[in-house]
Amino acid sequence: MDFDDIVIGSGLAALGAVLGLEHSPRVLVLCGPAQGSFSYYDERGTVPCAYHGEGGLGNDWHGVIPTGGRNNFAQASDDEFAAAFARFYPRTPILQRLGSASLFVPWRPIRPREQLRQLARQRGARLTLLQQPAAGFSWNDRFAEVTTATQTFRARRVWLAAGALHTPGLLERSLRRGLRRPMVSDHAFCYLGHTDELAPPRIVHSREGMVFPAMYGSSPAALYTARPARFGFRELDFGIEQRAVFGLPTGNAVMKLARRMSPGLLAEAFYNRFGVFSAAPRYSVYAQVVVPDAYSWHDDPDLSLRARVQAIGVATDEARGNPPFRGLCRSRRPEVYIPGIHLHHSVDLAALKAAGVNEPGAALQVVDASVLTDIGPDHHSFKMLLGAMLRARDAVEADQSSHRPERAAAS
Ligand SMILES: Cc1cc2nc3c(=O)[nH]c(=O)nc-3n(C[C@H](O)[C@H](O)[C@H](O)COP(=O)(O)OP(=O)(O)OC[C@H]3O[C@@H](n4cnc5c(N)ncnc54)[C@H](O)[C@@H]3O)c2cc1C
Repeated sequence: MDFDDIVIGSGLAALGAVLGLEHSPRVLVLCGPAQGSFSYYDERGTVPCAYHGEGGLGNDWHGVIPTGGRNNFAQASDDEFAAAFARFYPRTPILQRLGSASLFVPWRPIRPREQLRQLARQRGARLTLLQQPAAGFSWNDRFAEVTTATQTFRARRVWLAAGALHTPGLLERSLRRGLRRPMVSDHAFCYLGHTDELAPPRIVHSREGMVFPAMYGSSPAALYTARPARFGFRELDFGIEQRAVFGLPTGNAVMKLARRMSPGLLAEAFYNRFGVFSAAPRYSVYAQVVVPDAYSWHDDPDLSLRARVQAIGVATDEARGNPPFRGLCRSRRPEVYIPGIHLHHSVDLAALKAAGVNEPGAALQVVDASVLTDIGPDHHSFKMLLGAMLRARDAVEADQSSHRPERAAAS
């Protein structure tokens, strides 16, 4: 056997698995191609939906970690959540916040590429990183086998963390057709309008970031936030397109829009990034909404996804219906939304089960968002990392003590 565990991918889900494999004697990580490339939601190449390369979308994510605990698909206790959080942010107490809606925004987001490189230095020969994509895998009673363009590796277990867009294709290439769902779910982020009836949000600063207040509505699938509306942003619907591209990795369309950054957008960006200028006479109200089956796959192989505008409209309309804010002057452009970049549920779970994947003790475990059916309204990525970590840790511990039951894959 070449390795005990092989991890496919090098994003946040892969980092979670590698952290959980701390006591595995020999781990190989296939990071993806050395020369990375983005896929985008739209033909203009504005909003990325996947990055095929070292670090994945984790190179660009904003690092927001919610404390509300909705949809605990990681099956983690509060203590496990707080311990994992403290690994990255040891000087920010989080335990007492768990269960109430708020968002931790770090000064320095967790970057899986740097974290994996650091772990490789610490673990030495026990952890190998390779800049190669996996072409496919198979397994038998004794071992699993992963092939790349030039090599074949054997291991006891394979942890698939190629991301919600790449995992379905890899599963189909390796096992059989029918594992990819025809649709993919996501969050949509929408502007609801503005209100003059809000007290300034109380932001708690720590040495590692800030905690912003957030709210759940009566509709369980939405998370609401309010941000100070300044300059042009005091006008209803001003600058919606600019907001859509702010904070994204560069692309031509993005650069053009960024150059036209208005003072209002700049003020909102400063608030989002540093928590400053929170007191304002007017606030813009936003909702992050779960959209089941928000996209179908595009026929053009260069483009990944085709928006299912009606499904997105139904979900965002529901969040607009009953927001937890008084005095809301409502947006007149309800059709506008920003893709959440929280893609999930791209794999058919029944077909996956029939293929023997993700069962306790199975040689192949999928740990990214492709197998999450409902992530709830919160930002899901840290919980996904945590879920991967706990499952990998349990599998290694189960090896060592056959009495301990493994944590089942959550959906
Ligand atoms: C601008 C931006 C801001 C965001 N902000 C937030 C936020 O604040 N909070 C939040 O929760 N989420 C946020 N997200 C979403 C978050 O980035 C993703 O949910 C998360 O990074 C997904 O991680 P992943 O490991 O599942 O997949 P990915 O990041 O897509 O990684 C997949 C990995 O698999 C590799 N791979 C693919 N195919 C193969 C193969 N055949 N062989 C080997 N490797 C392969 C890729 O190279 C890559 O390393 C944001 C995203 C963006 C773009």
